[in-house]
Amino acid sequence: MTSSLFLMAFLAAMLLYVVVEASLSVLNLRYGAAHSEHVPTFARSHVDADSFMKACSYTRARGQFGLFSLGYGGLFLLIFLLCGGFGFVDNRLFSLGLNPYLHGVLYVLCVGLIFSVVDLPISLYSTFVIEERFGFNKSTLWLWCLDTLKGVLLSALIMTPVLLGLFWFMGQSGRWWWLYAFVFLAFLQFVFMLLMPIWILPLFNKFTPLPEGDLKDRILSLCEKASYRIAGIFLMDGSKRSAHANAFFTGFGATKRIILFDTLVSQLAPAETAAVLAHEMGHALHGHIKKSVAVSLFAALVGLLVLDWLMAQPGLYGAFGFSRPSLHAALVIFLFASSPFTYFLTPLFSMLSRRFEYQADRFACSLTGTPDDLTNGLLRLSKNSLSNLTPHPWYSFFHYSHPTLGERIAAMESFAAKGE
Ligand SMILES: [Zn+2]
Repeated sequence: MTSSLFLMAFLAAMLLYVVVEASLSVLNLRYGAAHSEHVPTFARSHVDADSFMKACSYTRARGQFGLFSLGYGGLFLLIFLLCGGFGFVDNRLFSLGLNPYLHGVLYVLCVGLIFSVVDLPISLYSTFVIEERFGFNKSTLWLWCLDTLKGVLLSALIMTPVLLGLFWFMGQSGRWWWLYAFVFLAFLQFVFMLLMPIWILPLFNKFTPLPEGDLKDRILSLCEKASYRIAGIFLMDGSKRSAHANAFFTGFGATKRIILFDTLVSQLAPAETAAVLAHEMGHALHGHIKKSVAVSLFAALVGLLVLDWLMAQPGLYGAFGFSRPSLHAALVIFLFASSPFTYFLTPLFSMLSRRFEYQADRFACSLTGTPDDLTNGLLRLSKNSLSNLTPHPWYSFFHYSHPTLGERIAAMESFAAKGE
């Protein structure tokens, strides 16, 4: 394929992505506006008219800002690409006469840094204007700067060996390089998952063991009932950044632990928190975490094969403004060019994820013996986090990793009715 054909194909894919995403968001915004009169029936026990109104305005504010950021990001990429930004950075580094591997790593880090800097105003506005207006933001400008700086340094620290390894395999290991690179990336993923709870998360938050009491007893008894072994239950100081609540399982083997946001524990009754954890336990015991890792590894393998094909296309480099072919140019082009294509795979991943959510909900209902604790917990969380109770069905089909709250409650009710 010639350079101009590659460029046209990429621009067409980007345009299609922006148009589809913008249309879905507009549909969702209009649907929300048309259904903002009455609280949906399933939520009336917990959500009053005022909270519902507030949730609708929060959804609207986020949706409108999402549309703005979509246009802003797309426009910057277009300008950067058409003004020869990719090639310009490459030529600057080339003039330094560095070792090709070092050049490659620096190039990817520089491009990553440029796009992160351009994204800073979006992140600032989202945290300090939108989240602030609705009372969610607990972060300070200082903490935000510190987080951003730590994030940048940490990604540079992690990316450097990953990129060096990848470039080495791409350049040195012959036609099967993608297979070696795949094994290398899979191994790193494993190490990363092992180290996440003990090295990386503590850089951003403080973790304290959950104190003795009703909640801990309930969680331990659920673990015992499900024969689920954990290395510890920790409270995380999520409240220092945001009022949004969450819980998750992290690590595996000796580092496997349950993390509860302090905001979750303060918003829910112990029985409800325990039910939320029973749901998380359902994910672990149904092997959802392993299955998700397997899916992402498979996606990485396909990605490497596509990259292998792309590397051999002479017209590709010129399309993105590079004066000469190189491994890092191929990688960066692949990363940018694949994003509009992976976007259209989103509904597939969302569908799989929603299947897992239903299974975990059913598990939690069986383990706690009632759908009520999880239902009440989810309703309370949704009220406090002002979540959208009336998304457009197409929007939720495309983007939602969880079924809508109405769908989850209906499924739990019918599961409980069948069980009795
Ligand atoms: Zn879940």
